[in-house]
Amino acid sequence: MKTGMDYSKADDWLIIEDKFDNRALGKCESIMSLGNGYLGLRSAVEERYLNEQRDYFVAGTFNKFDEEEVTELPNAADITAIEIYINGEYFTLDQGKTEAYSRRLNLRTGELIRSVLWESPNGNKVNFIFKRVVSLKELHVVAARVEVMPLHDQADVRIVSGIDGRMSNSGSQHFSDGNKRLYEQKYMQFVQTTTQSKIDFVHTTVLNFTMDNFVPELKSSIVMDRRKIFMEYSVQIPAGKTLVIEKISDVFTSRDRELEGTKTEDIQKYSLEALKLAEDKGYQTIADESAAEWERKVWSKTPINIECDDPYDQLAIRFAQYHLEIMVPDHDNRMNIAAKGLSGEGYKGHTFWDSDIFVLPYFTFTSPKAARKLVEYRYHSLPGAHKKAAGNQYEGAQFPWESAWLDDGEVTPVWGAADIVTGFPIKIWSGFIEQHITADVVYGIWQYYMVTGDQQFMHDCGYELLMDTAKFWVSRLEYNDEDGLYHINDVVGPDEYKEHVDDNAFTNYMAYWNIGKAIEYYQLLKENEPELFAKLSVKLELERVYQSWLDKKDKIYLPIPRDGDLVMSQDKTYLTLKQVDLTKYKNQTNIGTIYQDYNQEQINHIQVSKQADIMMLFFLMEDMFSLEVKRANWKYYEARTLHDSSLSLSTHSVLASDMGETELAYQLFNRASRIDLGPNMKTSDMGIHTASIGGIWQCTVYGFGGVRMLNGKLRIEPKLPKNWHKLKFNIIWQGQRLEIEADEQGFTVENVTGTENIFYDYHGTQYRVADKAVITYENNI
Ligand code: BGC
Repeated sequence: MKTGMDYSKADDWLIIEDKFDNRALGKCESIMSLGNGYLGLRSAVEERYLNEQRDYFVAGTFNKFDEEEVTELPNAADITAIEIYINGEYFTLDQGKTEAYSRRLNLRTGELIRSVLWESPNGNKVNFIFKRVVSLKELHVVAARVEVMPLHDQADVRIVSGIDGRMSNSGSQHFSDGNKRLYEQKYMQFVQTTTQSKIDFVHTTVLNFTMDNFVPELKSSIVMDRRKIFMEYSVQIPAGKTLVIEKISDVFTSRDRELEGTKTEDIQKYSLEALKLAEDKGYQTIADESAAEWERKVWSKTPINIECDDPYDQLAIRFAQYHLEIMVPDHDNRMNIAAKGLSGEGYKGHTFWDSDIFVLPYFTFTSPKAARKLVEYRYHSLPGAHKKAAGNQYEGAQFPWESAWLDDGEVTPVWGAADIVTGFPIKIWSGFIEQHITADVVYGIWQYYMVTGDQQFMHDCGYELLMDTAKFWVSRLEYNDEDGLYHINDVVGPDEYKEHVDDNAFTNYMAYWNIGKAIEYYQLLKENEPELFAKLSVKLELERVYQSWLDKKDKIYLPIPRDGDLVMSQDKTYLTLKQVDLTKYKNQTNIGTIYQDYNQEQINHIQVSKQADIMMLFFLMEDMFSLEVKRANWKYYEARTLHDSSLSLSTHSVLASDMGETELAYQLFNRASRIDLGPNMKTSDMGIHTASIGGIWQCTVYGFGGVRMLNGKLRIEPKLPKNWHKLKFNIIWQGQRLEIEADEQGFTVENVTGTENIFYDYHGTQYRVADKAVITYENNI
């Protein structure tokens, strides 16, 4: 199934749908979703369709529907629907004829525009232009504009729109019905309160109408009912004239930092006042201001330019940056990025390792302020991590596999999809035993520190996190008398097709690394920061646990490449499992087709992987393994990996780049970048794939740009695929913005911020970014 999207004609700033197909509603709603990190609005269109999914989220406003369900991000009241009736006929593309159609998301400005020429079943021809923007400048404001132009005859038009609180998350209604109010005959307001977390959402909206710049004569009436407040308007449009409708809305919640402790009535007043200010500006000014903010905050600061044969590649990286920017809650350090961003209900708004390992690096390298908010979130969620560790009889901080509000602890649901053999739902073990997340969090934080040099963060939060997690790991290790080593048994590694495995290589190495870092910083703090050391010593009982770090670290079992083919076992038994012909699944168009033939228990006993597992180890601990080992394992495991998780392809692409297999890396980049943006209609129904979006940036900057932080040092080794002629991007290293430009001959690095000495490695040689360092590939490889 393919969408009406054709990127071959692509303008490299526009995501275009040029044919309406209601089977692709979910896909377009997700990939064209709008947002600003405070709120996320899925791009459901104005008229209603059976398969639509209207989602509107405010970051961090979690609620738990009941004891049987886990905390999730509630779907707030809808403000996007606008029903339009032309001479009594409801405007919908399911009926009549669609003579012209185009929907475009402009990544540069964040504006969504749809134009439709529609002929109703009774032959009324009408031109519509719909525009929508979520302001990047005014985080609470959503603005829409609709033009309605009957072409031949005058039309009696009826419009129904307002605030619709009848939304749910797959049937779970997270809000109690609340106050509704109409002010001054036009401002509609609706208060809804989450049932368990008791967060008030105040929505205010207004519709204004003009025709030839005058307010037309119209009749209006108010409709209030359970969970909804609408206005109905009737107006006559002469043929050839255009009715312009502007709908301006805002949302504020009692969880907003600036409104903490504010009474609901006061939030209502505040929301109304803010709405009036936005209304005075009107749609175009709101859209222009937001576009200017996009330019200021993103495109002028972090442009990535690719001169390439296929304009799609340029579009793909901008698509990734656009989504990364609309998903990041950089206004508040009490929340983080969800696995679907704010673009859908998938994964319930929860934060996974996707954030720390796949998304955080983009911000660490381009927007340290935003990155700091994300790492601070992990620090502030230590109460949840302590709760989880204690619940499992471990010490220290064990981060939840899925995380929501700061002190929630684990929020992974327990039951998932159907088991085709037993007919029961499959138990999701990740929340119980997918434990590598704890070290992943620390890795993200350490990388943040190394790249930004943010000493203050380390002082206030980072060292504590590092040591508290090491405390968890030593309590987690299991001693085996027979080999005298410590093991980590019964886990799920990154490859979720293997449950209850012992000694998952990635998990063991990451735990080893985590403890190692704690030892290193323990010694450093003891010598250099006695006050902080003393404080942490009491808080974390460092004197006691330090000895156990020393005693146990070097006795952790770490698998090594086997003799002969250098393959490392992903876990204790992987290499002994049955091998089956995986061709069918390797060639699948949709993911997860192996579940049509095998259940989880059977998959556990086959040499098949859902996603990069041991590859993740090479990716994060790259200097622990030789190129030969990486090559051997890449070949062995890729053949057995179905890439059934969106996290997998980009990691394989970056590693292929590292191995010097640039064309292979490019093929994988192509696949990775099409997970959401590609033609498959169904991939993004539940929301975009955050980690894979971060992965597009990683393939570009880590892979082809060759940038990496390695042991605290910057490495730059670009290698462009054949049809990329130039790649230009910038990163921020230790507060200095470096501009890197690579082409077919070589590359340059320029410090565009200042004069500080910055060094980087290129194939083992250290260079200083003095003026504009020019490096020719041939001379240096
Ligand atoms: C993957 C996990 C990932 C999660 C959320 C799962 O399918 O296996 O690695 O964290 O999706 O994206």
